[in-house]
Amino acid sequence: MLYIIDAAFLLNGGDFTEGNQFFTVPQVMDEFKDISSRTVSLSALKKGILFLIEPEQSFILKVNESRFAGKLSFADKMLAALALQFKNEKKEFSVFTDDFSLQNFFSINKIKFEPVLRGSIKKTAVFQKKCSSCGKKFSSKSELKKCDVCGSEIQLKTKFK
Ligand SMILES: [Zn+2]
Repeated sequence: MLYIIDAAFLLNGGDFTEGNQFFTVPQVMDEFKDISSRTVSLSALKKGILFLIEPEQSFILKVNESRFAGKLSFADKMLAALALQFKNEKKEFSVFTDDFSLQNFFSINKIKFEPVLRGSIKKTAVFQKKCSSCGKKFSSKSELKKCDVCGSEIQLKTKFK
């Protein structure tokens, strides 16, 4: 799958999953002074998973003429133009962005998008008590301090689902 990613993807340590290709515009890279995002991006560039593409002028014009022009940052306009270009090239792709104006732009232009933080919002913590030795599970509301099977200490574990 091809993904166009915005700055939020890089800033939130977005996952460059294997087997996919990621695209962004040079302006997005310019947006951060944050060293770790820059390092992650540069390493992805080097590995050939992330590609920087400057959209063609005609697609930039289309974005500038749309009613979203005033609501989008320069980098976001470039991303929107790149998405129009991919659509025009009949590529199968999706855009990672949390920007509401960009999402509106993509909805209207029938371009697939996914929120960047969806994964982390979906995660919920589950508390569980477990014996440190035999592994017997207890209810998180259990008052027991020692395992009733082996007498070892019961620990509270946090699991993310
Ligand atoms: Zn036990």
